Amino acid sequence: MTHSQSNRPYKILFIGDSAVGKTSLMFRFADNTFTETFTPTIGIDFKVKTIFLRDKSIKLQLWDTAGQEKFYNITRSYYRNADAIVLVYDRTVASSFQNISRWMKNIDENAPDDVIRILVGNKSDLHHSIVISSQDGKKLGDRYNVDYFETSAKSDTNPNVSKVFYTLTEKILDQD
Ligand code: GDP
Ligand code: MG
Repeated sequence: MTHSQSNRPYKILFIGDSAVGKTSLMFRFADNTFTETFTPTIGIDFKVKTIFLRDKSIKLQLWDTAGQEKFYNITRSYYRNADAIVLVYDRTVASSFQNISRWMKNIDENAPDDVIRILVGNKSDLHHSIVISSQDGKKLGDRYNVDYFETSAKSDTNPNVSKVFYTLTEKILDQD
């Protein structure tokens, strides 16, 4: 089977509180790897992942923050030309869930108007520590009119990590 190349790479960002698993989700999806300890890198960088969808080979640029989210100091340049944003919270940390509204506001103020958003409740493998229920996640997704997925970057059998990116890419293609 042959695949035609899509015109341009799509820019996908991760946003959410520090330590919710943004970098881990990126590595799980792009490389299918996981590490318990990450050292924040200096400067903003991205990884490229190619997926196949609608008979096309599509390049996704996955942009990671360099830890500025610790200070709620995400610059406008990070959001520039973004096609989609993955908003991540940690299902074991209530404050990371509460702060999603803060990140939504930050996106409203800085990202392109038509940017696609998706809500992700991560660390779903930590069953005994979960404080944010599936119902809470769904409700918040509905409130913002965005899709909601429960993920684990740690588990190598959680299908939702790639579902997040396929869903986003479908939506990008629909509006591109
Ligand atoms: P970031 O600050 O949002 O980029 O978060 P990181 O990706 O650096 O992850 C923070 C910590 O949480 C690291 O120790 C990860 O190994 C751990 N972590 C990330 N995702 C998961 C997950 O889905 N499950 C579990 N159990 N740990 C995770
Ligand atoms: Mg990180």
